[in-house]
Amino acid sequence: MAEMNTLHDALVDEIKDLFNAEKQMLKALPKLAKNATNPDLQEALESHLAETQEQVGRLEQIFELLDETARGKHCAGMAGIVEEGNDMLSEEAEDAVKDACIVAAAQRAEHYEIAAYGTCAAWATALGLEEVAQLLETTLEEEKAADEKLSAIAEAGINEAATAGTDSEDEDGEDEEEGEAEAEPAATSSRASASAGRGARSASGSGNGGRSAKSNGRRRAN
Ligand code: FE
Ligand code: ZN
Ligand code: FE
Repeated sequence: MAEMNTLHDALVDEIKDLFNAEKQMLKALPKLAKNATNPDLQEALESHLAETQEQVGRLEQIFELLDETARGKHCAGMAGIVEEGNDMLSEEAEDAVKDACIVAAAQRAEHYEIAAYGTCAAWATALGLEEVAQLLETTLEEEKAADEKLSAIAEAGINEAATAGTDSEDEDGEDEEEGEAEAEPAATSSRASASAGRGARSASGSGNGGRSAKSNGRRRAN
């Protein structure tokens, strides 16, 4: 592990982590987009892919400003998020449920990035690295906007469409008892928000994660 005697060292380390995380996103986003059915969701993922390419470019500029070689360092956090997303994609699901799960996977990634960029921007500001801070803030705003767009798309129809199939014994489409017992313990993103230190507004408390519990039982040994 690299030596970390100063906040500047820590910042460089986090930037390397982000550089790798963004590159993982360059591979993950097209996969999510390809598996999405809702056209707005597909569009959102594709346009965030284009933004992600620019974000990689911004990180390269930051390396230059910091006089560091542009080199990533394996981001295990993003790798875990991507792995969960891939597991989800391999599950059979109704189109709308799959879309809801794709939103859930993408938002996990966005929140991870929001936390990391929030921290790095604050550190850069504390270190007086204004140009670096500015570049990080720009990306941070893009990540937040991407997250909010995903929430809006989910709430504009995907979540509702995804509830339609839950009642297998009752076909008449009445939705009197929404979200029965499966209601998950309101997955919070508060940890990400906390470490970002800047309102990573809890994505969509409305529960995108409609995946049936049984497929979640399997865990990798670690
Ligand atoms: Fe990003
Ligand atoms: Zn990481
Ligand atoms: Fe992102």
